[in-house]
Amino acid sequence: MITIKGLIIRETPRGESSKSVTVLSDERGVVDVFVRGGMKSSKTSSPTQLLAYSLLCLEEKKDASGQTNYYLNSAENLTMFYHIRLDAAKTALAAYFAELLNYCRIENSDCGDILKLTLNTLYFLDNGQRDPELLKCIFEFRLLCDIGFRPFLLGCSICYAYDGDIMYLNMRSGLLECEKCCINKNGVFSYALDRTMLYIIRYIALSDLSKLFSFRISDRYLKRLSVFTEDFVRFHFKDGFETLRFYRIISQ
Ligand SMILES: [Zn+2]
Repeated sequence: MITIKGLIIRETPRGESSKSVTVLSDERGVVDVFVRGGMKSSKTSSPTQLLAYSLLCLEEKKDASGQTNYYLNSAENLTMFYHIRLDAAKTALAAYFAELLNYCRIENSDCGDILKLTLNTLYFLDNGQRDPELLKCIFEFRLLCDIGFRPFLLGCSICYAYDGDIMYLNMRSGLLECEKCCINKNGVFSYALDRTMLYIIRYIALSDLSKLFSFRISDRYLKRLSVFTEDFVRFHFKDGFETLRFYRIISQ
C-alpha cells in the first residue's frame, strides 16, 4: 500500500458504478487509479473528482505483462477549490490546465515542481487575486519550460548581448538572437520581442516559484503575452485544445 498526494486531472467512467482517475502526484508523476464504486460512493467520489487535491491510499498490483496498476483503497480531500467550481469561466480555464497536464503526461518521475505550479495557479484562480488571463499565460509558458521546452533566454546566442530594443526568439531552436545577429528576422520560427516582452517571459521562465505570481502587467502587454504563450503551446504541443476554445467562448 502506498500513500500519495495528488491532483485529479481526469475522470473516466468504468462500467456502471466505477471510474478511473488520472492523478498528478509529486513523487510518481502522472498515474491512473481505478476507483471501485467511485461513481456512487460518497466517501470516495468527492476526493476523486476533477481538480480535487487529495491524499490517496493506493493498492499496487502488477498485471501479467508486468505493468503496475493502482486501485484506490481510501481517499481524503485536502483542497477542493470551491470558488473555481462556482464560476463557469474559471472552471473552463482549470479544465484547460488539466488538459495540458494530460497532454504532456509525465510518468515515473518527480513532478513536485509541476504539481506546485499547478496548485499555486489554481490557488490564485480560486481566490480571485490574479487576472485569470495572466494565470493562463503563466501556466502555459512555465509548464512547458518545466517539462523541457525552456528557451535559452539569458542573451543573444551569438554575441551574448543581454538585451536590445528588439530580440528574436527562434521557437524551433529555443535560441535568442539580437537585431544585429539575427539573419532571418521574418522567418516562420522567429518571434520578435521588445524589451518589456523579453523581461516578462524571462521572469516567467526563470523566477523562483515563490515569486512567479507576484507581478502585474498592462492590458496591452497581457494581450501580447497571451498570443505568445498560446503560440508557444501550439508550436510544442498542438493546435486546438477544446477546453481552451470553450474557455474563450465562455469568458467573453
Ligand atoms: Zn547578437
